[in-house]
Amino acid sequence: MDKEKFDYYIKTEKNNWEVVIGLEVHAQVISASKLFSGSSTKFGAKPNTQVSLVDSAFPGMLPVVNQYCIEQAIKTGLGLNAKINLLSIFDRKNYFYADLPAGYQISQYKNPIVGEGEVTLDMPYGSKKVRIERLHLEQDAGKSIHDMSPDNTFVDLNRSGVALMEIVSKPDLRSPSEVNTYVKKLRTIMRYLGTCDGNMQEGSLRADVNVSVRKKGEKKFGTRCEIKNVNSIKFMEMAIDTEAKRQVELLESGKNIEQETRLFDTKKNETRSMRSKEEAHDYRYFPDPDLLPLEIEHSYIEKLKKNLPELPDQKKKRFIKKFKLTPYEANVLVSEADTSKYFEEVIKDADIKLAKNWIIVELFAVLNKKNLDIKDSPVSPKNLSSLINAISSGEISGKIAKKVFEMMVESGDEPSKIIKEKGLKQQSDPKELEKIVLKVLESNSDKVSQYKSGKEKLYGFFIGEIMKASSGKANPKLVNDILKEKLKNDQKS
Ligand code: ADP
Ligand code: MG
Repeated sequence: MDKEKFDYYIKTEKNNWEVVIGLEVHAQVISASKLFSGSSTKFGAKPNTQVSLVDSAFPGMLPVVNQYCIEQAIKTGLGLNAKINLLSIFDRKNYFYADLPAGYQISQYKNPIVGEGEVTLDMPYGSKKVRIERLHLEQDAGKSIHDMSPDNTFVDLNRSGVALMEIVSKPDLRSPSEVNTYVKKLRTIMRYLGTCDGNMQEGSLRADVNVSVRKKGEKKFGTRCEIKNVNSIKFMEMAIDTEAKRQVELLESGKNIEQETRLFDTKKNETRSMRSKEEAHDYRYFPDPDLLPLEIEHSYIEKLKKNLPELPDQKKKRFIKKFKLTPYEANVLVSEADTSKYFEEVIKDADIKLAKNWIIVELFAVLNKKNLDIKDSPVSPKNLSSLINAISSGEISGKIAKKVFEMMVESGDEPSKIIKEKGLKQQSDPKELEKIVLKVLESNSDKVSQYKSGKEKLYGFFIGEIMKASSGKANPKLVNDILKEKLKNDQKS
């Protein structure tokens, strides 16, 4: 496909500007307890009910690393085709904020647990590789609540100490739609792995978006601004577009870009300066003396590698090869682990071609409309498979199948029950069908004459009348055969 058609430039009278984007994605680790304490990570609990003395930074409390979180980070690293570092170090990142009781965040700085990796995006113009710079583990902070009282800010420490993976990309992204695909791909990989639920409404996945611009063809990157804490893919796309335009405007009017941290105002669709970019030395990173360097054995990594589930890229390849799907279809069906599972359930016992179409077109439309996940589908894989078999065997027509499907959606019933109760079985008895055909031809003898004298368009009219006469139940293929035969005989006689 023509790549240029999809190019994303900020075009002005003077120039075409290319947009350069790098993401720091914060993904909350799926784990029962926090990174360095035994408190629960469950979402939605009453404020400050899941806070241990470690999370609230009582003096003298000691953090103990949660091995499961380490395992989750390594698995994610493997899913990103990344190098796992056998030695990593937890550092203190010092800053003051009301929701950070220790006055520092335990993070990883120079020695992250995961090094360079790579993610493949399927774009309409082909596949694109995005390089990963690193993945490191860190604690989340608490939450300041500003809207409960006009004069006070409250602090909820339930989130304090929950494990986050920060996944840093190289500045390889070039458009909002690439960012959209990238974030979704990360989310898919982590959901397959069970390492992050990717729930953006609950804040389990959010990103700092770094944006700079340069003239088309220029080699050197421009100065970037970092837009903090964007928590939906749509807002990321909007923020990039808005920020890039702001930078272009500044540059074209002869001004400079200051490297700084900005906030995206979703209501006004604008970014605003938050603070000028802090330097690493402002944080005074140093190894946390309460935590030993983290050493991982090679055999441990190998063990985790062996037990990884099939990942989306592999599954996609398998689907294309084994089930003869197009890359588009395979993409759609592997984008969620639950969707691919559903598909594989259905085709255990049903035609693949029908199955993929019914899932991608009919089922997805219903799920979208009802805002349901596929695992909560009112039509079970087994029932969809039965419906498809009823079509394949000629028991019902494709058209009737759509009606049956609608009723399955509403009732959750098996198709056989609906077909029987509503008398929707396809009429496939040639004798019966012949009767209907003859009746329709008889009562439309004028049209038959016109047909005979060359008005062949009328063929469709006859089919329509026959289908109507059979309440849509006549087997279309048989009707076709019989009608052709009758009209031929008629013409001869
Ligand atoms: P810091 O630690 O100061 O945030 P990093 O080098 O870790 O700096 O970069 C943070 C993010 O900024 C990375 O995702 C990187 O890809 C991105 N980035 C770096 N340079 C640019 C640039 N010129 N334009 C856009 N993004 C950039
Ligand atoms: Mg950063």
